[in-house]
Amino acid sequence: MSKLRVRFAPSPTGYLHIGGARTALFNYLLARKEEGTFILRIEDTDVARSTQESTDAILQAMEWLGLTSDERPYYQSERFDLYRAKVDQLLAEGKAYRCYCTPEELDAKRKTAMAEGGKPKYDGTCRNRQDQPQGVPFVVRFRSPQEGETSFADRIKGPITFSNEELDDLIIQRSDGTPTYNFVVVVDDAEMGLTHVVRGDDHINNTPRQILLYQALGYPVPEFAHVPMILGADKSRLSKRHGATSVMAYKDMGYLPEAMVNYLVRLGWSHGDEEIFSMDDLVEKFSLENVGKSAGVFNPEKLLWLNAHYIKTGDPARLAGLLEPFLAADGIDPRGGPDLQAVVKTLRERSRTMLEMAQGAAFYFQKDFAYDEQAAAKFLTEDKRPVLETVIRHLEKSSDWNEEGIGQAFKAVMEETGLKLGKFGPSIRVALAGGTASPGIYEVAVVLGREETLRRLQRALEML
Ligand code: GLU
Repeated sequence: MSKLRVRFAPSPTGYLHIGGARTALFNYLLARKEEGTFILRIEDTDVARSTQESTDAILQAMEWLGLTSDERPYYQSERFDLYRAKVDQLLAEGKAYRCYCTPEELDAKRKTAMAEGGKPKYDGTCRNRQDQPQGVPFVVRFRSPQEGETSFADRIKGPITFSNEELDDLIIQRSDGTPTYNFVVVVDDAEMGLTHVVRGDDHINNTPRQILLYQALGYPVPEFAHVPMILGADKSRLSKRHGATSVMAYKDMGYLPEAMVNYLVRLGWSHGDEEIFSMDDLVEKFSLENVGKSAGVFNPEKLLWLNAHYIKTGDPARLAGLLEPFLAADGIDPRGGPDLQAVVKTLRERSRTMLEMAQGAAFYFQKDFAYDEQAAAKFLTEDKRPVLETVIRHLEKSSDWNEEGIGQAFKAVMEETGLKLGKFGPSIRVALAGGTASPGIYEVAVVLGREETLRRLQRALEML
């Protein structure tokens, strides 16, 4: 058997959305698993709707997800000569014909057919036309067989059969000379030696037409696998109403690519009741056999849960690097402040996104932060002066500036004042972090360092 070759073939008419990314991921995993080849083909024949911006956005999103293609990206816009030659081949062999029917005529035919209860299908007026009027615009139509059936064994959906009678004489070249999607996709999938076509099931109706084109062009027919679509929680087709649908919007919201990959793969594929998969696990475990037949339902809560998991278990050095742009967006420059990796370690367990982590990290770097008003009114009150002073005194002389040493100092404060930590801990927290939500106060003190911790306690004293 020839080596597996698969592709992802986006049309660059917008950003990479969740559904497209999942299709790309399935193809990528299949290629890695089977030691085959994964290629990226930009389907930019629709010049009016395709933009370089969209192409760039798709390439960036693929890179972010780690879905690298094994060959340089292909662009259909660079292949018009090939498509033209293939149209000419079909014309020469009588497998396609020029159709001179005007849009108005076609419209009228369609209306008549529908009024008579028939299907709005091209009636074949130009099928057997012998003349070639000069200077009259024409499209090229594929001479589709009128009888028989076209079948294929879909790797996900099972056997599918269409009656050829239902298929129109497809336009393969428009009157402006540009080829159409169904035609170029076949030429490319064949010329690029693709063995499997894995794509969204919105293309299922195109498949029999494409199979007939493969046959007419003398190409071997690849295997097909149509992936069920993705729905929103209300079971309607996934759209912006259900949350962001752009993959990169999730990057901007502080999601990690491994969480997105893990989430995407589970939208339609399963492996027992496992939920957590690294890319390496997936390469080992992925198979088309375990892709479900029914639609996946988009669940932002689960994506958030996975993201929290990957942050919790993430490498602090890497997370620190990812955190920086989020801090910068809040106007925070971490240089000159506490060690960023140490900061990350205190926040990993409590941040579901990098955005949340940046919000949680801000106090470390803002020397003159404003206290949360309610927290200050409740916990930074005059009666706390003696205990705050005692804390300062013990921290000043604490020999080890680590959690244990700081814990010892607090123990000494409790012994001396007879107060439980619950009585003054919240005041220390507000003094150090500005509010009532923060990592543990010992951890925070360690990360801030002795000097900055004492400075913050003094500052709080001054505002009592
Ligand atoms: N360019 C097509 C699309 O974005 C995909 C074509 C295919 O996978 O066959 O829907």
